[in-house]
Amino acid sequence: MELFHSTRSTNIQVTAKQAIRQGIADDGGLFVNDSLGKTLVDVESLPGKSYQEIALEVLSALLPDFTEDELQSCIQGAYGSNFKDEDITPLKSLGMNYVLELFHGPTSAFKDVALQILPRFMAHTTADNAQAESQEDLDANKRVLILTATSGDTGKAALEGFADVDSTGIVVFYPAGQVSEVQRLQMVTQSGSNVGVVAVRGNFDDAQSSVKRIFGDADLASELAASSGTRLSSANSINVGRLVPQVVYYFAAYAQLLFTQEINFGDEVDFIVPTGNFGDILAGYYAKRLGLPVGKLVVASDKNNVLYDFLTTGVYDRNREFFTTISPSMDILISSNLERMLYYFSDGDTELISRLMNDLATTGRYEVPGEIMEKIRSVFDCGWADEDQVRTAIAECWNDNHYVIDPHTACAYHVLSTTEGTPTAPRVILSTASPYKFPRAVLEALGQTAPSSDFECMEDLHALSGMDIPENLRSLEGQSARFTDEIDVADMPDYVRTMAARFAE
Ligand SMILES: *Cc1c(COP(=O)(O)O)cnc(C)c1O
Repeated sequence: MELFHSTRSTNIQVTAKQAIRQGIADDGGLFVNDSLGKTLVDVESLPGKSYQEIALEVLSALLPDFTEDELQSCIQGAYGSNFKDEDITPLKSLGMNYVLELFHGPTSAFKDVALQILPRFMAHTTADNAQAESQEDLDANKRVLILTATSGDTGKAALEGFADVDSTGIVVFYPAGQVSEVQRLQMVTQSGSNVGVVAVRGNFDDAQSSVKRIFGDADLASELAASSGTRLSSANSINVGRLVPQVVYYFAAYAQLLFTQEINFGDEVDFIVPTGNFGDILAGYYAKRLGLPVGKLVVASDKNNVLYDFLTTGVYDRNREFFTTISPSMDILISSNLERMLYYFSDGDTELISRLMNDLATTGRYEVPGEIMEKIRSVFDCGWADEDQVRTAIAECWNDNHYVIDPHTACAYHVLSTTEGTPTAPRVILSTASPYKFPRAVLEALGQTAPSSDFECMEDLHALSGMDIPENLRSLEGQSARFTDEIDVADMPDYVRTMAARFAE
């Protein structure tokens, strides 16, 4: 069986189930698999298949130690009536281009696609297939506590996925004051006896870095194992179980284009992807490795354009001003999944990756050799939008197509016009959130005066566009907050201790 190991060393090899249960490798690297692309997906057979059928093909190729029955039950549970469109990720035309709507899940952001299925994967990873060698190991590994740093959307999607799942708990850390009002309400009203939500005084990068440090803290791990049999894991896109479900919709998009004869089998398609942690777009690269005819994968950043600068100069430098923008889920300066991309483009050079990540940790910057950058640029293109350009893109998209996009999707819409792409290839924008998650920013971009409450903004946006308001968002109005804690970054480990003890009661 093809095993996974860290991007930073090959010493420890684990199965897909172990990699999912563990989340991140012990050395701080991310789990990768050298056989990526050895089993190809039969693309020609996909048109006419349902999303669920396509998911089975793709996930079987990526998670070899899950049985077909296991994958089937995960897929059926994750992609049913909880999505408001029977195609799960419908493809729509947008002028000369296309938009892949990824926001029909229970929290109206694309992260539902992965986070509805991750808890189901997790349920198939029991202590006894996670490297247990003795009864002691088993006792130390009875429960999984998911820690999630969120820039706004992962938190709610993860809460919704893991709430009341047996033998798991989940704690979400969000940057205080840096998520939209709707995003905050979605999280602090979450039900479930195994959930915790806390605001952190800092930005997303501070919270994510602290969560990574907590994962790397061997003393804390033994303490939690001994006191409550809890092991920590991750629902961020550093977890391979979060990444692979996203590969599916690239195939689903292509299958829809083939089905409607918009393209012929083998034609290349470009994807333009609003990017923060590089998870969504990396899934597109995985799809390419699995045989999907992908032309360019285009990174669309907001004003925090660290990825744009990296792709154009070869230098990744996080020592720069951090901007809080109207696309909060992309306000990120440390883009975790880039590490996986660098691993694959350096042909698995774990020493190089260790050195680069060490440079990042110590100096905040690293430089990638020119020949690797050249290979990367043959697949990835890039662009970015400042906030005025985002607002203009929302207005233009509405005026030209009578289609409302959210501020994240608007970065991609803007980048559509600033990048060339593959000549003659159809171009697909990934739409990562419902505009109703950011109704104020969208309404203002459309030239309207926004009323004081976000719920009135939703109504006004509805009156203007005729687009339905998702029930999960509308129903937040008037719900009271269950979670009001606000802590310092330094207090995050203690918070984890408290929650681990509470969930074990
Ligand atoms: C998370 C998120 C993104 C960025 O996705 P990454 O996988 O982090 O690159 C873009 N748009 C929205 C709405 C998101 O929630």
